[in-house]
Order: sequence, then C-alpha cells, then structure tokens
Amino acid sequence: MEKEQITKVISSRRLLKKLREVMSADISVQEKLNRIVDVVAFEMQTEVCSFYLLQPGDILELFASFGLKQSALHETSLRLGEGLIGEIAVQKKALSFDDVWHHPSFVFKPETGEKIFRTLMGVPVLQGTHLLGVLAVQTEQPYVYTEEEIETLETVAMLIGQILLSVDFKSRQNTFVKVNKDVRSRIEGVRLMSGMAIGTAFVHARTGRIENLISSNNEVVEQNKLTAALTDMDKALSETLADANISDENAEIFETYRMFTKDKGWIRKMTDYIHAGFTAEGAVQKVADDMTERMSMITDPYLKERIHDFQDLADRLLHHLAGKDTRAKNKDLSENTILVAHSMGPAELLDYKKEKIKGIILEEGSPTMHVVIIAKALNIPVVGGVKGVVDAVLNGDKIALDADNGYVYINPVEDILKDFKKRIESRERIRRKYEKLKNVPCQTKDGVSVSLNINAGLALDMLSLGDGFSDGIGLYRTELPFMSTTQLPDTQKQTEIYSRALLNAAGKPVVFRTLDIGSDKVLPYVQHKSEENPAMGWRSIRITLDRRTLLRQQLRAFIRAVNGGDLYVMFPMITDVDEFVEAKKTLDIELAREKEKGHILPKKVQVGTMLEVPSLIFQLEELLPLVDFLSIGTNDLSQFLFATDRSDPTIWERYDVLSAPMIRTLKWIVELCDTYNVPCSVCGEMAGKPLEAMVLVALGFKKLSMNAASLGPVKAMILSMDTSLVKDYLETILPVPAHSLREKLRLFAIDHDIVI
Ligand code: PEP
Ligand code: MG
Repeated sequence: MEKEQITKVISSRRLLKKLREVMSADISVQEKLNRIVDVVAFEMQTEVCSFYLLQPGDILELFASFGLKQSALHETSLRLGEGLIGEIAVQKKALSFDDVWHHPSFVFKPETGEKIFRTLMGVPVLQGTHLLGVLAVQTEQPYVYTEEEIETLETVAMLIGQILLSVDFKSRQNTFVKVNKDVRSRIEGVRLMSGMAIGTAFVHARTGRIENLISSNNEVVEQNKLTAALTDMDKALSETLADANISDENAEIFETYRMFTKDKGWIRKMTDYIHAGFTAEGAVQKVADDMTERMSMITDPYLKERIHDFQDLADRLLHHLAGKDTRAKNKDLSENTILVAHSMGPAELLDYKKEKIKGIILEEGSPTMHVVIIAKALNIPVVGGVKGVVDAVLNGDKIALDADNGYVYINPVEDILKDFKKRIESRERIRRKYEKLKNVPCQTKDGVSVSLNINAGLALDMLSLGDGFSDGIGLYRTELPFMSTTQLPDTQKQTEIYSRALLNAAGKPVVFRTLDIGSDKVLPYVQHKSEENPAMGWRSIRITLDRRTLLRQQLRAFIRAVNGGDLYVMFPMITDVDEFVEAKKTLDIELAREKEKGHILPKKVQVGTMLEVPSLIFQLEELLPLVDFLSIGTNDLSQFLFATDRSDPTIWERYDVLSAPMIRTLKWIVELCDTYNVPCSVCGEMAGKPLEAMVLVALGFKKLSMNAASLGPVKAMILSMDTSLVKDYLETILPVPAHSLREKLRLFAIDHDIVI
C-alpha cells in the first residue's frame, strides 16, 4: 500500500546557524562533514543524508553519512554516472527522484544497509565548474521536495565546497589520504607515466651502509680492488644497455651517466680516501655521501635530480666490490612485478627484466627524472611522490596501481581488485578497437578529411608514427631532449637528435618548434633569474631572440638534419609580428650561411608560428601574408585568454575551453586563416580530447596534433561525426550566455551517436 505523502516545516535559518557553528569548530574535515550530514538529516527531517567525495579515478566515495551504515564509509563507492548519485555528479545539477527503487539507474549497495527509501534528492558540490562531490538526502516515505529545500541543500553544498577549499589543495589531499590509508590502504601520488597495473610488490633496495670503512689491508690491495670493480662495472653496464635495446635518443641519458664512471675527479677522490686508510667500499661510500650532501644543496631541479643517477652508480660499484651481480634479483621477481622504490637511477631499472615490470611506484619522482624517461620509453606506468610507500609495502604485497589518476592500493579488497581488472580489460578492449581504425581514412561522415598528427619530443612518441595512425609530427617539442643532458647540446649533437626524429618519422613531415624554454621548462645551463610570473616572463622566443646564438645553432641543426628534404619550422610564443619577422630573418641568415658553405639546402622551407598569445590574434591580417602555416597552442592561449594559470590545479578548471569566448576566438582565427589560405592546426591539449576535437573539426580545423595516446579516441570521434550537424548546433548555442557549453555538447554528441 502506498504510504501517505508527508508534510514538513523546515527552518533553513536554524539549519544554517548550526552549520556555521560546525564550520567554525576546530575539528578535522572528516568530523565537520560527519556533523554536517547529521545536522542536515535532523533539520530537513530525512532518514538519510550522505556526502560522496569525488576521488581520483572518477569514483564517488561514500565519505560521511547519517542513516547509512558507518562501516560502509570509505568502502562504498560509485563510478561517475553510476546510480542516481552518479547521475547527479555527471549532470552537475540538483535532481530529485520520487520512486528510487524502480528508477532504471538505481544501484543497490547492500553494505550500506539501505532500506526501502522512496525518495532521493541530491545536489552537486562544486568549486567553480569543478565537481568535488555529491550531497544527498533520502526519505522512507513518499515526498516531493520543495524548491526551498533544494535551495537549502544547495547552500549546504556550497558550505561543504568552502570546507574542502579551506585547506589548500595539497593538504586537502593529505587529509583524505590519511583517512583512506587507514581504511583501505590507498595512497595518493602523481602520474609520471600513465597506465594501470595489478601486480606483486618488489621493494627495490640499495646496498646497506658499509660498516668497515677503515682498511686493514694495504693501500695497493684496496686500490686494485677499486680499479677492478670500475672495469667490471663498465663492462656490465655495456651489457645491460645492449640487452635493454634502448633507443638512440634515450641512450644519451646513459652517455651522461657513463661519463660519471670515467670521471677523473670522482676516481681521484675515492683514491684519496684509500690513501687515507679507507677500504675501497668505504671510499666509494664516503665520496657518495659527500657528493649527495653537496648536491642536496643545489636548488636547480634538473641538477638535483641527477643525485639519483649518482647514487645508482655508487651502489652499482659497491655491488661489484662485493662480487655481486646487480641483475641477480631477477630470479626473485614474479611475472607481474610492481617495483617500489625511494628513487632509482636509470640503469637500476634496466637491471630488472623489463617484461616482468608492470609498474613502478616512487617516493620521489618528477617527470624529468631519468628513470621516468626510461620507464616511458619502456611503456611502464609510474606513480611518483608516494610518500611512505617503501615502509608501507612488503615484498609480495598485492598492489593495484592507477597511474592515470596517480594513486596506488596496497593489498586492496576484492571489490577494488575486481574494479581494477574490469578497467584494465576495458582499456585493452578499447585499445584493440582503436587498432582496427588505424588504416581507415580519417574522414567525418559528411566527407571532411582531418589530418591527425602527434606531439612528440621523446623516442617513445615516435613508436606510433609509422603505423598508419598519424600523418606526421605536428609539434616536435625540441626542449625535452635538451632537458635530459647536463649541457647545451652543440649544433652537431642537435643535428643528430633531429635527424633521428626525421628518420623515425619515415618521410612524414616533422614540424620542429624552436626552444620553448622558461616558464615550467628550465634548462640548467640557461641562466634564469627568478620571476614572479614565469609563464609571462622571459621565456621561449623571447629568450632565443635575446640569446640569438641559441636560436641560430638550433636553426642550423634543423637545416642540416633535413639534409635536402623538407623543413618545417615553427616559432613559439610569438607576441607581435615583428618577433616573427626577426625570427624568420634569423632562419634566412642561417640558410644563406649554409648555402655559402656549400652545404645542402632543404628542398622546401615552410615557416610558421604558434598562436598562443592573444595579442597576435589582433595582428593576424598583417601576420598571415608572412607565414606558411599557423598552429594554435590552446594550452597557453586559454591560459592567457582567461587569465588562468595552467599550472595551478585549484584554478585551471574554473573556465572551460568549451565556452563561447574560446570557441569564438578559435572560429575567428580559423576563418581568417581560410581567407588568407594559410593552413591552421591546433596542437594544444584540446586537440586530443574527443569532445573538444568535435568542436574544432566543426569549426573548420583540418589538422590536429596531439599525444599519441589520443589518436585512437579522436579518430573514432571523427569517423562518427557529421560536421554540418555539429556546426549548426554550435551556431544555436553560442549566442546563449553560459559559463560552459560542455554539457550541452556532450548530450548532443550522445544523441547523435558521436563517439566521445
Ligand atoms: C600550448 O601552449 O598549447 C602548446 C602546445 O605548447 P606547450 O604545451 O608546450 O606550452
Ligand atoms: Mg605553449
């Protein structure tokens, strides 16, 4: 029998007063949330009030609840879009449901002890447009929520948003990590190389401290031991590198590394300690300690990272002194090993059998660490910055690693493992699906051809080039190879690097971008003063025009590398036409110089610029007659257009590139380029996201350049879209004022079977 509709009288004022008390209480975030759900349930007279927090991996975790079993907290979770809570999260708006159990999207979670609740009303907790979670109430009796109640819950959601903001982003994560760690052993880190894996932990240990520092032998014996160990080490390293079959480009990392092994200063210091009475092992350790101490004072992040290479080397030498093989540990590895380490040197990684390593977790870690660059080349997912993981993990522990979202589980419960397995399988299925699209022409349903290209700069990126998926390299970021060496590569070295890129591209065009250093990409050998706003400071073309030799050497290397083929050069961060003219003049000087020297000149030279600074948009009519092509760097362009720091996670999602200001800007640029017959592409992150790419293609962009991993998803989208339909739809929604058009576009894509 239907239960009676109940009526309620709710005092929003009293509710808000109580909430203000909670807000100002000196208690943890978790406790505040617990109290809030209690207060809301009491004042709104509902049987349940729950808060679900959006966690990495698009999981909505039951974080606080009145009315559901407390044992379900941090255990129950829903995926984005799953169940009614997931629906509210996806739609990012208040929704109420009056017959919950019969709703097709309802998902029953028995562990919550959920009774037959008739109704559910929930609201999103947002920070700008960024979703933080969902707050929901439920009643047992049939009930229709009033507008006022919905608004009240929205106000509470705003307050929760403030609580989550009141702690800064990093410590906010820590607050949650602590809770999660206790309950489910989940530890957060950062993505250094994407991917997912399940495997068995193997803790990478360095040699213990040497106790016996002072020698009872004579000096000559110790010196001979050291010399023999150095020779052994060099030989073993050559074998390791040969076995690893590391690409030429990454081999440079090892060249620097091996320079250390022959470094006279290092060997002399160890010899000095042996003279002073140390054992060979003691001398190695002492010099390594001295060096680590000195290097830890360095503030330059690139040089600081080299500490790991050095420690790797010292450890390797100690192994050889002890007569041990650094590769012996392979016999203890399971077929699916997850390496866990404080940090590692690149050669230490290569000591392990790469087929067995399915993932790496590091306590330290940054994208410029050599081990990370090598892991990328070997396609091994890496999560870095996972503090405390070495102590928390034992050999043989089960590990689930989600490097896409930067977290790991230690000995996860069966549900989580199941979820991981499902996601890994689904990734694999999708990968196979995309494989099939490889040689299909990249055309929309209404016959518009789109050229897909990749953004490259590492050998790994090249792997997917010759396989029928991309038409070339739309953006070759030249600064990355520069960042993995200790000194500026000279013209010859650069020529070799670019020649290899061209060789890998197998005849497809490679658009070389001149150095885009500064901002977040600091090179150790280019002196940089500290800047308040480096993204708007002395960076990119501003540096290379001021340090003209840098630019000239690079352009010379490009010319030589193409060796009579076609040369595509692109200048970054051009802010006014004059800068482009100056940069192009420099290229002309280099071309003339090469000619004079009798060197072979490129068959064709195409010179373009990136459009990343809004001021250039207003000079397009003067610029376009001078350039051969244009490429829009939407990462920087949107940062400057919306005045929103792209490197600040608390702000970067505040404005959406899928909104009228950005879309109109892009539309204007592409239309003007068409008028001047100048090819215009997009090479920022936007191009690699299917929904964004749908808009770009509808606007008229015929060339997109993206990370290799995005080629499949974007191609699937292009094959399923009709440009004229999306274009017409855009015309209708653009004039309507809205913070973001994303949701409308998403629903449009779903309605029209566009694969996003
Ligand atoms: C961009 O700004 O969109 C771009 C592609 O350049 P980068 O990301 O290297 O700054
Ligand atoms: Mg840029």
